[in-house]
Amino acid sequence: MAEKSDLLILRERFPESDPRESAYTTRVDDFVNWGRKNSLWPMPMGLACCAIELMATVGPRYDLARFGAEALRFSPRQSDLMIVSGTVTKKMAPFLKRIYDQMPIPRWVISMGACASSGGMYRSYAVVQGVDEIIPVDVYISGCPPRPEALIEAVLEIRRKIERGGKSAAELAAGAPRPAA
Ligand code: SF4
Repeated sequence: MAEKSDLLILRERFPESDPRESAYTTRVDDFVNWGRKNSLWPMPMGLACCAIELMATVGPRYDLARFGAEALRFSPRQSDLMIVSGTVTKKMAPFLKRIYDQMPIPRWVISMGACASSGGMYRSYAVVQGVDEIIPVDVYISGCPPRPEALIEAVLEIRRKIERGGKSAAELAAGAPRPAA
């Protein structure tokens, strides 16, 4: 016996609706990116006072959960968005780099605040003058400290970037093609 077509099955199950209105087509990449942008799992790299604002962003007042990015993971293997919040000392830099390297690809990075982005007020031999000296950065946030709204806008920018299918800073830095979905 010939198998029923999907259209016929849908018509039998939902006789009152037009099956053509119940389905849509898309591309696999777009579908995967839709899932990625709605389920970012941040790696909280809290290094100094900016981390307090990061914590506030996840709390009930600012509620980062509205954008699907509230599941902070303390394991790099479960994270795809590193949020560097605070002063990156040269003593800490190798560990930050190691954690970044352990995160799966694709991965994104937000540099939160003046210290992470440029060393801030610490023109010192002990402080890295911008985390982009050791890892590629996708979005920079200015301020000392930036407000939670600024961090939310940075997360939204990462979501827009993923939705557009744009390459992450890491991919651009490596010149590598985007891994197959
Ligand atoms: S930018 Fe300001 S608030 Fe943020 S870590 Fe540096 S000194 Fe602290």
